[in-house]
Order: sequence, then C-alpha cells, then structure tokens
Amino acid sequence: MYFDNGATTQVDPEVVKAMLPYFTKKYGNASSLHKYGREARKAIEDARTIIANYLNVKPSEVIFTSGGTESDNLAIKGVAEAHGKGHIITSSIEHHAVLNTCKHLEKKGFKITYLPVDKYGFVDLNKLRESIRKDTILVSIMHANNEIGTIEPIEEISKICRREGVLFHTDAVQSFTKVPIKGPDLISISSHKIHGPKGVGALIKKESVKIVRQNDGGNHEFGLRAGTENVPGIVGFAKAVQLSKPSHVQEMTKLRDYIIDKILKIPDSWLNGHREKRLCNNINVSFKNIEGESLLLYLDSKGIAVSTGSACSSHELKPSHVLMAIGLRPEEAHGTIRITLSRFNTKEEADTLIKEVEAGVEKLRRMSPW
Ligand code: PLP
Repeated sequence: MYFDNGATTQVDPEVVKAMLPYFTKKYGNASSLHKYGREARKAIEDARTIIANYLNVKPSEVIFTSGGTESDNLAIKGVAEAHGKGHIITSSIEHHAVLNTCKHLEKKGFKITYLPVDKYGFVDLNKLRESIRKDTILVSIMHANNEIGTIEPIEEISKICRREGVLFHTDAVQSFTKVPIKGPDLISISSHKIHGPKGVGALIKKESVKIVRQNDGGNHEFGLRAGTENVPGIVGFAKAVQLSKPSHVQEMTKLRDYIIDKILKIPDSWLNGHREKRLCNNINVSFKNIEGESLLLYLDSKGIAVSTGSACSSHELKPSHVLMAIGLRPEEAHGTIRITLSRFNTKEEADTLIKEVEAGVEKLRRMSPW
C-alpha cells in the first residue's frame, strides 16, 4: 500500500501507453529535419500546448527541463545572473532545490533573506513587504509545502511583488494539478508528482522575464535549456496533465479528512500544517514519545509505505528544517510521519493504514524508554 505520493507517484498506465511509441517507433531527435525528427518535434509542441493551455499561458512560456530541481535552479540562478547582483527573498521552509540554490548564490555575493513562518507554515506577508528593498530582484516562495502541505497565499504574494516591481517565482511541484496557480512570473512544475514519468518537468516563465541559461549547448527550448529533448518524458508529462481531474482533488480531500479524523483520536498526536489550507493529499502527524522512523519501519513491515519527511530529508538524522521552522522541538519533529495520497488510494487501504498506525504507535510506546 503506497502512501508516499509526495515523494513520487505511480505512472498512470495511460501515460505509459502514450509514451511507448516514442521509444520504439517515433524515436527521432526533435532537431532532425526528416520525418522522424518532425514527428518528435510535433509531439513536443503538442505537449507544450497542452501544458500551456492548462496553465493559461503561451506555449512559448513553457520551458521543458529535467524536473522540479532543474526548474528551480534555472529560475533562481537564471534571474540572479540576468541581474548580476542583488537581493533575493525566500522562505525558511522551501525545498532544498530552492534553499541550496539560494545558499550557492549567497556564496557568489547575492544577499538572501530567509523569511520565517508561523506555526502553520504560512509566510508573514507583512514581513515580506518589510523585507523588500531597492535592490531586491526576486521573491521565491513555494506554492505548497512538500512536508506539511501548507498552501501559501501566492496570489497575494504576486500582488505585493507586482506592486513593488519585483519578480516572483513559485515552486509549484507539489501543488500542480491540485491547486489552481495564478500570478507568479516563474513557476516550477514536475511530472513525477502527478503520475507522469521521472526526469521531466518545466519552468513556466513569462515572456517579459529575462533569465540566463544554466547549461550551454544547442539552441533547444528557446535557447534557455540546451540538450536533446526527452520526447517520451515530455509526451508522458502532458498526458499526465490531461488525465488530472478536479474530481480527484475532491476524492483525495475526503480521504485525507477521513484519515486525519481517525488518526488524531490516538492520544498525544497532532496534525502539522493547517487543517484546511493544505494539499488535498497531505497528512503530516506527530506522536509524542514515538520515533517516526520506527513507525515507518513498522508500517513497512506491514506492507505500507509512508515517509518521515520529504523524500530527500528522510535519509538525514537532522530534524526536518520545516518542522523546526514551525516551532516543533527536535524530539517532536522526530516523532512525525507524512502520509501522502494519490487518486489510486482507496478507503479500504485507508482503513488498513489507520489500523496499523494505531497498532504501531501502541506497540512502540509500550517499548519506549520515555
Ligand atoms: N520542489 C518540491 C516542493 C518538491 O517536493 C520536490 C520533490 O520532492 C522538488 C522541488 C524536486 O523536484 P524533482 O524531483 O522533479 O527534481
């Protein structure tokens, strides 16, 4: 039973079907002039149009990349290098793709402000306003947090940035197809979080925004991302977008709320993030006197996959920077698991999950030295 869809998702069989011809039959290089090349080019441009229409942007504003990490790097380093110097504002709960990019730029002389968040993980808009300076070139605040699911007020942030004449980038890797996105100048999205293949994503960039390319080579993707295009991946990404439906969000929200209500009946447990303004598929819960990792392994032994944080922090011993930022103590952060749903999860699976979480918590607490 798979409840780690915030890390990655099952590729939808329809997506696989759409991709297959581009491995074995229509395998041309989209830069070639012959029939094979033209077929590949058409597939890419059709996919670009599907994603552009979905987000209500122009096809020329969709730059295909290798995923969310590359899109974040291209957006932030791209804007920074286009300006040469300046100040960037981000939040303390960003994904490492944003945080480490900002740290890299800090070493190069850029000034970075890391905004704190409140107990739910919301960025304080007054603090954002106060932090904008004459030399601020970019604000990068994520749309929805990958660990606690909190949805940031990006329309408000867009308005503030527009009023101040500052560019706004959002990492929408977790929210894409789940929450409507409106306002930012640059948006990072990724295919493998939405039942598409891994290794493909896009940076959505308003035409007027100038960025510097991050890899040199051919003139692919409007001269902004060199490298032979991943045609099957791009086709699969667009198919995954087409297959996403508003009804999936409603179903996941219902299942999420069902699981939260049941799990919070366990004594000394609490939900991290906001109860309503959270991703439809995210449940992040802490249990007093429990090691999240031990609970994860207990559930794993029962055939249930969850995580203790974001995919990339789950091999670290340090408590999650997101849980620390919302005010948890290290031992509380360590007693946390993240359950992330997809449209393929069922009520029956949820019932088994709830039963095993209850049993696991009880067993671990009985063995606990606390
Ligand atoms: N940003 C967020 C919020 C994420 O959750 C992830 C993946 O976990 C990424 C960026 C990285 O995306 P990708 O795995 O496509 O590089």
